[in-house]
Amino acid sequence: MVQTPNVIALAAMQRLKETGEPPTPENYERAYYAISGLPVPARPAPEAQAASLAPCAELMTVLRELLREVTDKTEHLAKDLGEKNRDLADNVDGLRGSRDKSEILRLLAAVVSQASGIQSTVEASHHDLVETRQALVAMQEELAETRQLLNEDALTGALNRRGLDQTLVREIARAQRNGGKLTLAMADLDHFKSINDEYGHEAGDQMLVHFTMLMKSVMRKSDALVRFGGEEFTLILPETDSRGAIFVLGRLQQLMASTPLVYEGRRIQATFSAGVATLRADENGHALLRRADEALYGAKDSGRNIIRVAP
Ligand code: GH3
Ligand code: MG
Ligand code: MG
Repeated sequence: MVQTPNVIALAAMQRLKETGEPPTPENYERAYYAISGLPVPARPAPEAQAASLAPCAELMTVLRELLREVTDKTEHLAKDLGEKNRDLADNVDGLRGSRDKSEILRLLAAVVSQASGIQSTVEASHHDLVETRQALVAMQEELAETRQLLNEDALTGALNRRGLDQTLVREIARAQRNGGKLTLAMADLDHFKSINDEYGHEAGDQMLVHFTMLMKSVMRKSDALVRFGGEEFTLILPETDSRGAIFVLGRLQQLMASTPLVYEGRRIQATFSAGVATLRADENGHALLRRADEALYGAKDSGRNIIRVAP
């Protein structure tokens, strides 16, 4: 069965209701990942986590409010309907026992008015429930979007470290299942500090966006680009060996050379160095990243603007 984020979110909320756990962001997240079967992303530092989860926490507060409102309303509805039902039953009993015509007419009028009262109560509650349902659907969509944003780097739109963990676990599992090659590259802009120093930090930022855009133009749809940190990027290439990775990075080198960044009318040229490693049979993501990183250091040591393959 295909599980969309909305379906998982709904099931997670249902699970919290069943287990009686309070709908805190932590409980919700645990339920969400348990149901989706996705690995729980590694936790960033507490301050970074507090900042990145802020939109989620806000949503959860709204959700808690909404659930409390619904519970209050349904409680009120049950009480109201219970009272109205009792009155109605009393009058119906009275009707059964009465032989007096005027008494029968009075009771009948009361029964009709009570029945229509019950109908209006039910209609009003139905309307409330439809509105609540619509609000919940809108929140689910917002939550799914927030989740996506939490995995992205705000400046470049590449994945962030959180997204890297998820993608790497998924792609390693896929490669091991299919027996396909998985290659990872660590790429780092050369002398990036001097671009900041010479043209300013804003120009440095634009160079990061420019680099991401050029990289995306040479990648396949199934590849993933992660901003590993600062001016260092990780490229995950499924179904690709080291020769394929060198080909992609070589294309990027050519593009970087032929397409400088134009910033405030000035052309800024940059190069990058990269280390490439292909997943071994007994390797995990951490070891694969380390090998690619070592190859990157080798490329830097050898003079930069170089692509090195890990042994
Ligand atoms: P190398 O060729 O050895 O990689 O040299 P480098 O100058 O690129 O590397 P170094 O680690 O010395 O400096 C990286 C610089 O990247 C320093 C830091 O201020 C800058 N930097 C990191 N993140 C950002 C960012 O988001 N925007 C900008 N403009 N600069 C950044
Ligand atoms: Mg650098
Ligand atoms: Mg660096």
